[in-house]
Amino acid sequence: MVKKGFLFALALVSMLNASSEVNVYSHRHYDADKQLFKMFEEQTGVKVKVVKAKANELMKRLEKEGVNSPADLFITADVGRLYLAQQKGLLQSVNSKYLNETIPANLKDKDNNWFALTKRARVIVYNKDKVKPSELSTYEDLTTAKWNKRVLIRKSSNIYNQSLLAAMIASEGQEKAKTWAKDMVNNMARTPAGSDRDQMKAVVAGIGDVAVVNTYYVGKLLNSKKKNEVMVGEKMGVFFPNQGAGERGTHINISGIALTKSSKNTDNAIKLMEFLSAPKAQSIFAEANYEYPVNPNVEPSKLLQSWGTFKEDTTPLYKLGVYNSDAVKTFNEVNWK
Ligand code: FE
Repeated sequence: MVKKGFLFALALVSMLNASSEVNVYSHRHYDADKQLFKMFEEQTGVKVKVVKAKANELMKRLEKEGVNSPADLFITADVGRLYLAQQKGLLQSVNSKYLNETIPANLKDKDNNWFALTKRARVIVYNKDKVKPSELSTYEDLTTAKWNKRVLIRKSSNIYNQSLLAAMIASEGQEKAKTWAKDMVNNMARTPAGSDRDQMKAVVAGIGDVAVVNTYYVGKLLNSKKKNEVMVGEKMGVFFPNQGAGERGTHINISGIALTKSSKNTDNAIKLMEFLSAPKAQSIFAEANYEYPVNPNVEPSKLLQSWGTFKEDTTPLYKLGVYNSDAVKTFNEVNWK
């Protein structure tokens, strides 16, 4: 009898514990996130425990831990990674009226296995001293003769480029996407090397005149503690490609959030997902990394507004996952290093 009572008490304690916390595996490392999690804790009484690491390490950990993983939520950048996590069976579908009504359809998984938290555009940046924005138009135009040996873009092993090409395969077809990739290689100012930030540094160093980068890296340069990085940021013009009538719009990608298959604090986890998607959190969450909010009721920051508005490619983002392996194969075929 005593034993039974003890076991019951133990079960009760673990139930209470389970209902008072939520465990997040996040690749993000911003003070703003910490601040938001604290706000959530104060509002709900639910403790937020965060494990921070690189996206691939977190995914490996989720795989290894399996059903015993303490993780409830997985936060990472690029839809390619969210799709991969889903394919590996690490995620589960969420049924939330708020998320369904708030997050635009193209910015979430078709079966609600992940939802966007922030949005970034992969744009063309140009050296304001050398290039006029009127000379720019589309990603496709970067492959024409006038840009010969003037284009900077990072390696094909990078997920951002894989997603860019996957989006092109999704909307223009394999053939056109391959031709684009092949012609881009011909127009490259150098063999791809370095990060998005390094491409902009190479533009200022005169190695090339235009680069393809994610918008938030311009924000990061402009807000850098290093003077030379601020200078590089200030020399960059931001151009949103493929804006013409009938054109598909600028390629976008997301950072997103997903409920893990192993989640034991599901209600709290969904509460936190909804909290991070609500207007109050959205502006803070997006601004921490100079990104666009995904909640349509929230304005982007002043810096992002200064670049102007743009038409985004509304190809459902999960298709970038579907076509990722085709993109990787295509990059190899055209010898994009
Ligand atoms: Fe990045």
